[in-house]
Amino acid sequence: MSETSPKLRAELDGIPTYKPGRPAAAGGPVAFKLSSNENPYPPLPGVMEKAVAAAGNFNRYPDMACTGLMNELADRFGVPVSHLATGTGSVGVAQQLLQATSGPGDEVIYAWRSFEAYPIITQISGATSVPVPLTSGDVHDLDAMADAVTDRTRLIFVCNPNNPTGTVVHREELERFLDRIPSDVLVVLDEAYREFIRDAEVPDGLEIYRSRPNVAVLRTFSKAYGLAGLRVGFAVAHEPVAAALRKTAVPFGVSQLAQDAAVASLQAEDELLGRVGALVAERARVYEGLVKQGWTVPPTQANFVWLRLGERTADFAAACEEAGVVVRPFPGEGVRVTIGESEANDIFLHAADAFRSRL
Ligand code: PMP
Repeated sequence: MSETSPKLRAELDGIPTYKPGRPAAAGGPVAFKLSSNENPYPPLPGVMEKAVAAAGNFNRYPDMACTGLMNELADRFGVPVSHLATGTGSVGVAQQLLQATSGPGDEVIYAWRSFEAYPIITQISGATSVPVPLTSGDVHDLDAMADAVTDRTRLIFVCNPNNPTGTVVHREELERFLDRIPSDVLVVLDEAYREFIRDAEVPDGLEIYRSRPNVAVLRTFSKAYGLAGLRVGFAVAHEPVAAALRKTAVPFGVSQLAQDAAVASLQAEDELLGRVGALVAERARVYEGLVKQGWTVPPTQANFVWLRLGERTADFAAACEEAGVVVRPFPGEGVRVTIGESEANDIFLHAADAFRSRL
């Protein structure tokens, strides 16, 4: 018998594997990781306690329906449980959204550059990616995105604030855009960084979804709530969409540790949102510091800043790493830098200043 490899889907060949933000190099100098938009604060003791208690049962499967968490979310956000679906991080829920809506022949629209998982999960679903360039100000071009809709469009991602630029779309322009989208096309408002927003003109997706059955809101416990390692996110959408998301979820995908820690985090929200406030203050300090140094930085409402460096991207990232902070380069485009602890932010600001003075 001749040796052949198993047949794999041909379209996977063209799909890159998701690249996580790098940690500091093993054996290298101690460095702060500002490459994955994580929360620099350690877990709250009370949240850890709940997770550790859940660990005592990990010979058992978790509650597949995430009952406690769904009830807590319903209470906290004033939505019916039937409008909720959970998943392994919001990227897991995004993949459920693709599975629920799109397949070969269908089209998925998103801004570009935006969250790098969108093209990957779209292509894995077999659907066709329709990336729409950001404006010259690194903002979603909602008019061009609405113009890109065809009768094959099934899903549109609006990342607000946008990863990696930190830019936002405002209430009026978003409502105008939604008015132009056919009601059988699902619009996903990816609000992974919602809690970091201070611009009052940015709408809360949960207000928008209530009157729009074709809008789903994506949220996560990974950023403001500091549970990136536990993998839990959720969507809020009207019942048919939410039910389809529950159907397309990986069974038992959200561990009991994650569920219990998420509930405890919602219950400790005041303290966690206080930490977010401190990060927002650091964001202002970093942003203003960069502007003072002469950098052009798009205004950011997330827990990161974006520097469009073009061909100097790799050199800048290397200079930061040498100084003691690992940032996230997007080769040939720019560098995204997470707002971390103030010591890390200081190191970054010094590195940016030194790099600029050498230009
Ligand atoms: N959406 C956006 C815009 C993101 O930046 C990220 C994380 N980088 C996610 C979703 C996914 O986060 P998680 O799966 O940890 O919830």
